[in-house]
Amino acid sequence: MSLFRNVLCQARQRRFLHDCPINAIQPLRLLLLGSPGSGKGTQSERLQKHFGVLHVSSGDLLRQNIQEKTPIGKQAASYMTKGQLVPDPILISLIDQELNQVATPHWLLDGFPRTLPQAKALDDTLTRMMQPLNIVINLEVPEQVILERIMDRWVHIPSGRVYNLSYNPPQVAGRDDETGEPLSRRPDDCPEVFRVRMQQYKQMVTPLLDYYRDIAITIKGNTSDEIYPKIEREIVNRLGLLPGTGTPMPTVDLSAFSAAAVAKTNASRQRAAMASVEEERIADSSFR
Ligand code: ADP
Repeated sequence: MSLFRNVLCQARQRRFLHDCPINAIQPLRLLLLGSPGSGKGTQSERLQKHFGVLHVSSGDLLRQNIQEKTPIGKQAASYMTKGQLVPDPILISLIDQELNQVATPHWLLDGFPRTLPQAKALDDTLTRMMQPLNIVINLEVPEQVILERIMDRWVHIPSGRVYNLSYNPPQVAGRDDETGEPLSRRPDDCPEVFRVRMQQYKQMVTPLLDYYRDIAITIKGNTSDEIYPKIEREIVNRLGLLPGTGTPMPTVDLSAFSAAAVAKTNASRQRAAMASVEEERIADSSFR
């Protein structure tokens, strides 16, 4: 294979990978990023409900593997109990395995990738599957707001029931509603631990946001209720998916696209078609 063809293929792959033409109709293939306490869990539940996405969480998959005592679970356990990141090769093979079994076109990744090698390995897998990520949403909630929420959080340790003094207080102050037993704080719910976790999160997310800059959006707000409609709006505008159905909008809505968006989409299609014709021509000539 000629050097020229190699370069052409690489260029083509890059274009397909992060090319997210505005208003193109695509399934939802989302990476959700957000600091500790930013409400990723709540947003994932809402996206599951409204768009029928499959929620793929690396933390949940690891815990499941540990419980089932699989080879991956046995390898991961020692890192997780020490609060360390599990090495990239273990995570990469875990997520590869999971994505190869996914039977729905709409999915959401939560907790993976966390490092650039993980992001690059994920791109390779998804390119092979012809299902590149098409949107990265980064939730941004002010640190002070998260800290206040954490400081208002009380738990009943035996059952795991969680209360929040601002929006979900116990019926009797300091007591669990069902057992009447005393509530306590989680040891890691304190400003010092939170600041360390935020620092670690920022170090992790900055290179990822740069890597995904073509398809990443940061959505800001103080509460999940304020943030969710903004996420929904981005999905509808960028991917053409309607909430409630989990299915693409009918193509007839294409007529409502702005002239500029149509031109952008057409130009991108034309470039792809030209690259494909050129590649076939080269492939043909190399067999002669
Ligand atoms: P947390 O927000 O505390 O990290 P998670 O449930 O997302 O909670 O993950 C639990 C643990 O699983 C992490 O502390 C880490 O040890 C491991 N883990 C999850 N995802 C990854 C990943 N992408 N890379 C490395 N380790 C991971």
